[in-house]
Amino acid sequence: MSWSWTLVRTACSSSEASRIRVTPAVLERLEREARRAAPRECCGFLAGRRGLIEVVYPLRNAAARPTVEYFADVRDVLEAFRTMRARGEELLGIYHSHPASAAYPSATDVERAYYPEAVYFIISLQPTLDLRAYRIISGKVEAVTIEVVEGA
Ligand SMILES: [Zn+2]
Repeated sequence: MSWSWTLVRTACSSSEASRIRVTPAVLERLEREARRAAPRECCGFLAGRRGLIEVVYPLRNAAARPTVEYFADVRDVLEAFRTMRARGEELLGIYHSHPASAAYPSATDVERAYYPEAVYFIISLQPTLDLRAYRIISGKVEAVTIEVVEGA
């Protein structure tokens, strides 16, 4: 799987303090969503239980300039929250793609990080396929280690 190398490298360079657990199926889905949406950015919610992300909720990108920013469609957001609640899942992460730039939050991403409890995932397709995760709280960006684990 193409993610492996990046994830090992990320795991080695980050502290123990901030981690998020994800299943391999979720990573594959994120890559697929990013490639399908390009040159537009894709976006969505990542949900699960007990800190393990197992479910992907793709949301329509309703941003004015979808090739360089994302803004999740409000109806899709409400629908996703409804489904999560019905299934007893919690919102653990929010993802979007950078079709043509590195996997680091843009100024707009930081400004629109409305969910401080969630981990923000960015999938980059260029210059190389890359996946990074961050906590964005009050304008402060902090790297989070992505731990790949099989579902329970
Ligand atoms: Zn972005």
